[in-house]
Amino acid sequence: MEFRDLKRQYQIHKEAIDRGIQEVIDSTHFISGGQVAQLEEKLAQYVGVKHCVACANGTDALQLALMAWEVTAGDAVFVPDFTFFSSGEVVPLVGAVPVFVDIDADTYNIDCESLEKAIEYVIHHTDLRPRVIVAVNLFGQPADFNKIREIAAKYDMLVLEDAAQGFGGMIGKEKACSFGDIATTSFFPAKPLGCYGDGGAIFTDDDAWTERLRSLHVHGKGGDKYDNVRIGMNSRLDTLQAAVLLEKMNFFEEEVEKCNQAAAKYTERLQSIVKTPVVLDGMRSSWAQYTICLKDAKEREKVMEQLKKDGIPSAVYYKKPMHLQKAFAEGLAEAVSCVRTEDICGRCVSLPMHPYLQDAEIEAVCESIERAVL
Ligand SMILES: *Cc1c(COP(=O)(O)O)cnc(C)c1O
Repeated sequence: MEFRDLKRQYQIHKEAIDRGIQEVIDSTHFISGGQVAQLEEKLAQYVGVKHCVACANGTDALQLALMAWEVTAGDAVFVPDFTFFSSGEVVPLVGAVPVFVDIDADTYNIDCESLEKAIEYVIHHTDLRPRVIVAVNLFGQPADFNKIREIAAKYDMLVLEDAAQGFGGMIGKEKACSFGDIATTSFFPAKPLGCYGDGGAIFTDDDAWTERLRSLHVHGKGGDKYDNVRIGMNSRLDTLQAAVLLEKMNFFEEEVEKCNQAAAKYTERLQSIVKTPVVLDGMRSSWAQYTICLKDAKEREKVMEQLKKDGIPSAVYYKKPMHLQKAFAEGLAEAVSCVRTEDICGRCVSLPMHPYLQDAEIEAVCESIERAVL
């Protein structure tokens, strides 16, 4: 069994994907080929925002957003304590200070009460200026953007939506990547919309920020790439990756629906024996991960051992809270306590999840977990 079965997806859609790749090779427009602009338009339309700028990966996308806002030394950026390293890594990269915030124990997304406490702490106990809230759509479910936007307005801050795991998620009829002032995603192969290498994208309705992003991701270009008006990066999406993504967009909605069906089956089978994921009313997850929580670290170990014995892959996202990462040791480690993150890091585990998961496979995973916990 595969944790995320990219081989089955390719086998089913091989002809179309191969055709897209071959067209790029025939054209030899490997950088900035027509497919990149085509993809940007298609993505912006799907999400329902004015602009999309494709770039090299989801980490660069976050950094470029902070650069476009000129976030820098003296600025505080608030980041959930439970997320992939990138969400916080980009903050010191632009010279600002990350402040880690505890999560909601049901959704695993940033907790708004802890967020306000952390902002108040920074205002009253540091010389830093609260500038940006990074809200991550962890495991595919959008964060509580209605509340987050209220808090951002109250403190005159910007919202950066990290939808690396959340592309395809929804709140009501609105799509993920439309909730932040700027939103970013990743096309890393195992993400909900993955390409065949690294890739990323940035979304916004703002014209001026878009102009700056288009400059920043190509060496701070002005009129052209040899006229440089600011310090930027080399962060473009390859044409080959754009071609793969253009084909994958044709069946992406269907894939998200299939993941939701698989998740519903898992939850129905498992909810009485372990803590299953909570998707709030009106939200749609894109199921980057299906993550359960066990009673404690010992029970998790038992479950993971049993799964392994039964030939089923599993993974822990994430083992370590951000504020305990050595790389952030010099930061404002704990402006607020992050006990819920510490607790969940110790007993969560993610199960195989992808659109091509078969009922018999779901059943095998559930039986294996039952063997371990009952
Ligand atoms: C994967 C991921 C990123 C980074 O994306 P890359 O394309 O790997 O650079 C950022 N944030 C979150 C939450 C992620 O899961």
